[in-house]
Amino acid sequence: MDIFLTNSKTRKKERFEPIDPKNVRLYVCGPTVYDRAHLGNARPVLVFDVLQRLLRHVYGKDHVTYARNFTDVDDKINATALARKEAGAKGTLEELVTERSNETIAWYHQDMDALGAERPDHEPRATEYIGQMQAMISDLIAKDHAYAAEGHVLFRVRSYADYGKLSGRSVDDMIAGARVEVAPFKEDPMDFVLWKPSSDELPGWDSPWGRGRPGWHIECSAMSHELLGASFDIHGGGNDLSFPHHENEIAQSCCAHPEAEFARYWLHNEMLQVEGKKMSKSLGNFFTVRDLLDQGIPGEVIRFVMLSTHYRKPMDWTEKKRQDAEATLRKWRDLLQGAEPTGVDQRVVDAVSDDINVAGGIAVLHTMAREIADNPQKDCFYEKGAMLASAQFLGLLTEELGGWDKVSVDLSDLAEKLAAVRATAMETKDFSAVDQMKSALIEAGVEVRMSKAGVELVPGAGFDAAKLENIT
Ligand code: AMP
Ligand code: ZN
Repeated sequence: MDIFLTNSKTRKKERFEPIDPKNVRLYVCGPTVYDRAHLGNARPVLVFDVLQRLLRHVYGKDHVTYARNFTDVDDKINATALARKEAGAKGTLEELVTERSNETIAWYHQDMDALGAERPDHEPRATEYIGQMQAMISDLIAKDHAYAAEGHVLFRVRSYADYGKLSGRSVDDMIAGARVEVAPFKEDPMDFVLWKPSSDELPGWDSPWGRGRPGWHIECSAMSHELLGASFDIHGGGNDLSFPHHENEIAQSCCAHPEAEFARYWLHNEMLQVEGKKMSKSLGNFFTVRDLLDQGIPGEVIRFVMLSTHYRKPMDWTEKKRQDAEATLRKWRDLLQGAEPTGVDQRVVDAVSDDINVAGGIAVLHTMAREIADNPQKDCFYEKGAMLASAQFLGLLTEELGGWDKVSVDLSDLAEKLAAVRATAMETKDFSAVDQMKSALIEAGVEVRMSKAGVELVPGAGFDAAKLENIT
């Protein structure tokens, strides 16, 4: 069973070979917990959720370690805490900072759980690993890769010859293109912060360089080392992080542990976009996962849409995609009612093993659904079980995400009504009332199936419950 992954480090699709098949290790850069996650933030969560499911399928459930961090050292978290304190909230500023992080992490869990994303084995919070970060910084200073100046510690970028390799840039190109901060205490404008001073009122930790706090990049280097070791298998995140965040992680980790490889395979998801631009809080063109859930869009539908575009391609969220996904999932849930999951179809595993081609896996599910639906006379017990197991392997049609299809619409009354109208028409030979009702149903996105046996109504693509109200 071979898995192929596109490694950003080599820019090639490579056969995945784990360092230790008994413990396959994956690290993904998680959110900065200052507010609700926007829909773009859900993309890496879902992509790497499928990857960890695949790894567990291939190497065994207990032979995978998945870590995703929470960055809870951040100016925006501090700003909210400060505003609450000024508005009269009880507690110290530090307690209010912790409260804001806790609240945001709880939201994150609720929202990502609703999308059927399994929680990683480790969800380290930066504030719980300050000791390890300080140890790594001291080590980098001792090895001459970093220097302390005016309460800061900076990484000496020119001391690491491979800097820029991941993103394929030279240091000089980066200086020309990047918004590097020039500061009097820097030896070189490219040098980046490992540690910086904190003002007296803001959260800070005592250190050999004075009271302060860590830079963002050192967090991931220290936490991945502590939880997964100096060499591990896969490092993931959005491609917006490859420079400077991942470049800096590599520089720190490889200089601190030159004997090790750090991450063997680097995987980057492309961005969720809005009209050609990355969805992001700073651009203000975002909506949150919670916004969609609150509109009544089932988490499973969001998951399906997000996974239907290959992770290395940019994607847009559109209303059409939402409608199609909802119609497909309704149809599948209906088709597989009462089925018990059996074995995952190998074609689905093969698709996902080819660089996380979830769309390919979904295409196989469509084929399976067609075969089942086209053979109503056949006892499809085995096929249904296999289709259900295969969908669940992708985190779809699970029990946890279920229930929405039945709760949100019940068309049985309308089906009975249409059957009655048709019965009358058979006698009078005037079918205009039947045609009228049928068109209104189709207009509302309902699939109308009429046979000798009766009338069946199924919410289809473009289903719109509001339009049903006018049908009498
Ligand atoms: P942040 O909290 O901004 O550091 O982002 C957390 C994770 O979400 C990182 O892996 C980012 O690469 C990813 N991310 C942020 N914006 C988007 C987007 N528009 N599309 C896909 N991934 C994103
Ligand atoms: Zn990171």
